[in-house]
Amino acid sequence: MPALSNDALHRAFQHANDYLGDLHNRPVGATASLDQLRSRLDMALPREGVGADQVIADLIAATEGGHLGSTGGRFFAWVIGGSITSALAADWLTSTWDQNAALHACGPAASVVEEVAGAWLKEIFGLPSECSFAFTSGCQLAHFTALAAARHALLRQAGWDVDSDGLFGAPSIQVIVNEHRHGSVDRALRFLGFGARTLAPLPANDAGQITPEALNSALSNNRTPTIVVLNAADLNMGSFDDFERLIPMAKSAGAWVHVDGAFGLFARASRAKSHYLAGVERADSWAADGHKWLNVPFDNGMVFVRDAAMHRAAMTLNVSYLAANALARDQIDWNPEWSRRGRGFAVYAALRELGREGLEQLIDRTCNLAQAIVEGIGALPDVEVVWRPLLNQGLLRFRDPRGGVDDRAHDARTRAVIDAINATGEAFFSSTVFRGRLVMRVSVVNWRTCQDDVERTVAVADRVLQALR
Ligand SMILES: *Cc1c(COP(=O)(O)O)cnc(C)c1O
Repeated sequence: MPALSNDALHRAFQHANDYLGDLHNRPVGATASLDQLRSRLDMALPREGVGADQVIADLIAATEGGHLGSTGGRFFAWVIGGSITSALAADWLTSTWDQNAALHACGPAASVVEEVAGAWLKEIFGLPSECSFAFTSGCQLAHFTALAAARHALLRQAGWDVDSDGLFGAPSIQVIVNEHRHGSVDRALRFLGFGARTLAPLPANDAGQITPEALNSALSNNRTPTIVVLNAADLNMGSFDDFERLIPMAKSAGAWVHVDGAFGLFARASRAKSHYLAGVERADSWAADGHKWLNVPFDNGMVFVRDAAMHRAAMTLNVSYLAANALARDQIDWNPEWSRRGRGFAVYAALRELGREGLEQLIDRTCNLAQAIVEGIGALPDVEVVWRPLLNQGLLRFRDPRGGVDDRAHDARTRAVIDAINATGEAFFSSTVFRGRLVMRVSVVNWRTCQDDVERTVAVADRVLQALR
C-alpha cells in the first residue's frame, strides 16, 4: 500500500530548492539527448512498486538535463514565463490540497479565490466589472470558451438554438481574423465546428495590424453573422490591432469582437504601454494567459466575457447531483472542463506578491530588457534588426557576409547562429519565419531576467559570431 512518505516530500522540496538556487549556473538548453532520456526513463511496467522516496530520487536522476531552463533569466524562446515565488508555492499547495475545483461544494476556498482573482484581473485589464470570467488551462481554451459564447449568442440572434439543435444545418458564421493570428485561434474554432473555410484572414500592414479599410470591406461584403478576432500583441512583433478604430466598426456591423491577449493584455498594467490597448474594453470577449507574463506556473489561462448570460449558457449544465449553492460560484458554469485544478490559488498569490506596482515594473522591465538584447546583439557585425521591440518581442537576422542577395544563405547563417548560441547553454532562443525569412525571436517575459542576463547574452552572441567568421 502506498504510504505517506515525508522523505519523498522532503527530497522533492530539497531538489526544488537546489534547482532554483542553481538556475543561474545551469545550461539553459536541455543537455540530455532523446535516446538518453528514453533509456533512463523507459522500463517494463513494474509488477511491484517501490517506495515513494525511491521513485522521486530516480525521477530526479533520470530527468537530469532533460528540462529547459525556462524558469531562469536567459530563456528567450517562444513566450514562456517563469514562476514567481509565491505563485510556485501556491501551486505546490494547490496539489497538496488537491481540490476538485469544478464546484464550490467540492472546494469552497478554490471557488472563492477564483472570484477574487477574476475581479482583480478585470480591474488590471480595465474590463467592465459585469464581465464573467473563467480560469482555463491556457489561452487556447480561453479562446474556446469565449468563442463558444460567441457562437451561442450569434446563432441565437439568427433564430438558432445551437445547444438543442447542434451545428448541422445551422446558419453559417464568418470569422474575420488578422493574418498574424496565433494558431490557437484556428484550433479553438476547429473544435467548435468552424471549418477552416469560415476564416477570413485579413492582410496586416507593416505594423502587423488589420487596417480599418480592410475590415470595413470584409464587414460590408458579408451578411452572415460575424466574429472578429483581434490581436493584443501577436507572437512575432508584439503588435496590437487598433482597437479604438476597429472595435466600434465591427460592433456597428453586429459582429462579436474577441481579443487574443495571451500576453499583451497585461500591458494594461503599464502606464508606458497601456495606450496600445486603448479601446480594448469595448470588445465582447478577451483571452489571456497567467503562465506567460504574469509568471504563474503552467497551466493557467483566463477568459472574460461581456455578456455573462451567453458565457454561462454556452458552458453550464444542469445535473441533479450537483448540489449548487445559489450564493456561490460554481466554476463548471463558466469552464469547459468538469474536474479541474484549483487554478485561482497561484494567480491570487502572484497578484498579491506583485501588487499593481510590481506588475507594472515587471512589464516595463521585461520590455526594456527585450529592447536591450535586440540593440546589443543588433549592434554586432552582420546582424540585422528585423523588429525592434515596441513591447517585449523582437526579431533579429544574421547575415552571411558572403551571402549577397541569397536569402537562403542568410537563413542558414541565422539557423547556425541560433543553434550555436543554444549549444553554449548560456542563453536559449527560438526561430520563426517572418515575411518569408528565417529570424531569431527575442521574447522576454521572465521576472528573473536582469541586466546581467542581457550582458551575458550579448557576450555569448558576440563569441558565436566571431567563431563563425
Ligand atoms: C501563447 C499564445 C497563445 C496560446 O496560448 P496557450 O496558453 O498556449 O494555449 C495564443 N495567442 C498568443 C498571442 C500566444 O502568445
